[in-house]
Amino acid sequence: MIISMKKGATKEQIEHVKTLIESFGYRVHESVGAERTLLGAIGDERGKERLTCLEAQPGVERVIRILSPYKLASRETKESPTVVDIGFGVKVGGPRIAVIAGPCAVESREQIMEVAHAIKESGAHALRGGAFKPRTSPYAFQGLKNDGLLLLSMARDEFKLPVVTEVMDPAHIEVVLENADCLQIGARNIQNFQLLREVGRTRKPVLLKRGMSTTIEELLMSAEYVLSGGNHDVILCERGIRTFETATRNTLDLSAVPVLKEKTHLPVIVDPSHGTGHARYVEAMAYAAVAAGADGIMIEVHPRPEEALSDGPQSLRPEEFRRIMEGVRNVARAVGRDV
Ligand code: PEP
Ligand code: MN
Repeated sequence: MIISMKKGATKEQIEHVKTLIESFGYRVHESVGAERTLLGAIGDERGKERLTCLEAQPGVERVIRILSPYKLASRETKESPTVVDIGFGVKVGGPRIAVIAGPCAVESREQIMEVAHAIKESGAHALRGGAFKPRTSPYAFQGLKNDGLLLLSMARDEFKLPVVTEVMDPAHIEVVLENADCLQIGARNIQNFQLLREVGRTRKPVLLKRGMSTTIEELLMSAEYVLSGGNHDVILCERGIRTFETATRNTLDLSAVPVLKEKTHLPVIVDPSHGTGHARYVEAMAYAAVAAGADGIMIEVHPRPEEALSDGPQSLRPEEFRRIMEGVRNVARAVGRDV
């Protein structure tokens, strides 16, 4: 349930209503808008009769029942788009398209520095790179782990780029928090509810990648886990779903972008690299994502894709990335955005 306070509700009235909500056994999620304050009552729905009675309290405008199963992620709760600041002033969800680029995995100091330098020169806003890699095969390269995180943090300091990296295990959250600016939850962990709860307890932005077989509603329910922990900085990422099609690695569901935009206030980005699995299709899908209304794109870039320890076939060379950045700028302008 959402308790919408009147436009001119006083601080005391808001505090009083918050105390009442808590006394009913709910947690309060406060959202202060330009016009009015919304108070979300988080907890099980059994006490909703008591919440409805709050309508009689001074300063309360309305008590609204949220129909969607995801409450905090819903547009019904918050109409204005959420803008997530991932560090160094880089905002995801505002008028500018955020471009996050970098290798699938951090492989060496030289590699990450070379990529970070190249993407910065081309105008990317954030550096990605996996230190803990979720690989299908236990024999495949699993990432440089803590050493990879240190290299990412060196690249971040050198090039003033916020770092996005995956966290796979609650036990690693602390060390990832020390070295990164945005915690990525990968497609394979999108329904790892314990992990979602743990990142929900942190105050670092979280990038949630849609699973290969999660519906849009399930993705939003995963976001709800993070939001309900008090972490409001959640970014959603469409990265392709599994279908019968084998010409591409996944089927990039670009229609998820307008659907998500309608259902949630959270920013939405698209990963055309994992979405297609082939470097030669990334350009078209990156442009299409921006045209579809995405707030950002995440692209894999490697100095020598043929030598990459993971996802080489879908990685762009720095010069290809530079060219695509130009195109992204043009498409963004055409749809009234900036890069
Ligand atoms: C990645 O971003 O490197 C990755 C493993 O992505 P996904 O979880 O979408 O497969
Ligand atoms: Mn990858």
